[in-house]
Amino acid sequence: MSVAVLIMAAGRGERMGTDRPKCFLPLAGSPLFLHSLRAFARVEEITRAVLVVPSGWEAEAERAIVEQEARLTPQVVAGGADRAASVRAGLAALAEEPPEIVAIHDGARPLVSPQLIAQTVAAAREFGAALAATPITDTLKRAGDDLLVVGTPPREGLWRAQTPQTFRFDLIQAAHERPADPASAVTDDAMLVEAMGHPVRICPSSAYNLKVTTPEDLKVAERLLSRSAAIRIGHGYDLHRLAPGRRLILGGVTIPWDQGLLGHSDGDVICHALADALLGAAALGDIGTHFPDDDPRYAGADSMVLLTQVTVMVAEAGLAPVNCDVTVLAEAPKLRPHVRAIRERLAEVLGVAVSQVSIKAKTMEGLGPVGEGQAIAAHALALLERR
Ligand code: MG
Repeated sequence: MSVAVLIMAAGRGERMGTDRPKCFLPLAGSPLFLHSLRAFARVEEITRAVLVVPSGWEAEAERAIVEQEARLTPQVVAGGADRAASVRAGLAALAEEPPEIVAIHDGARPLVSPQLIAQTVAAAREFGAALAATPITDTLKRAGDDLLVVGTPPREGLWRAQTPQTFRFDLIQAAHERPADPASAVTDDAMLVEAMGHPVRICPSSAYNLKVTTPEDLKVAERLLSRSAAIRIGHGYDLHRLAPGRRLILGGVTIPWDQGLLGHSDGDVICHALADALLGAAALGDIGTHFPDDDPRYAGADSMVLLTQVTVMVAEAGLAPVNCDVTVLAEAPKLRPHVRAIRERLAEVLGVAVSQVSIKAKTMEGLGPVGEGQAIAAHALALLERR
């Protein structure tokens, strides 16, 4: 039950005002079409890809594909004189080993989500044909060349067609093989299937799946993309039991007290919660997997060393801490006199200013194990930004 994708990047993109074909223009450092390819690579059931480019641009496309590491390596095919001819060239490349389903996608829609792709595939399995679309919310006007309004058509039931448009392969192949109606311009693939009288199902999408048509669209896409990828947040939580005869260490600072936190390491809940928040923000797992508590190397470990290692892992992932906020839950001792020292220690390890590190302390009003003085816990939030 194979599923393939056809990424259409064959347009010259005259409205962009450059010599490069539109889908070869850079967005956040890679050609527009690669963003689409990466989104499709995240949908597991898609196992084949064909990229249709303007004739003469095949080698440049191959180079860009080699440089990136996506799960899907597309076959590159030269397009034809118009969009329909280019789609037919792509379908022909797939026809030697026909897939069950093919998703046809504009290479100029770089922000398509894997969820939307999967929805159109599921709908194509059920209905034979499906497309992403958004309901029209603006009032529509019809006007002549003189810009004088001649009517306001009702917008009820009207949708703005997007891609992916996803079909049973045999169905879209048959639709493209039918002689074209000279009276109507073919602007998308779904209309060819509609013309056969076959049902086509809409998968509601959002305006986020925009089509880059003008230089302004490219700027909007850049802003949307950088916002989604540049800022990441993570949460961490930890609790350790209090026991007599242990040193109490919080945020790397030794606090005079008659009990300390029990643990395989030094039991520093602030460090552990913060390390988990940093790992969480980078989606790198948790400290339990990186520093197992049955590993003798971490027996009695200084948690500030673990936290330092976590900051290195985060940096290797291309991320840097922006700020963090920690809430310590402890009935006693009073932490306020030590807050400044803890913030300074943590700021040093994270490589940020002291003003970027917040430590707050709360009691549990005598309730629960923390309130009864049997344990100390900490919550941490960390914000990372792409460097
Ligand atoms: Mg811990």
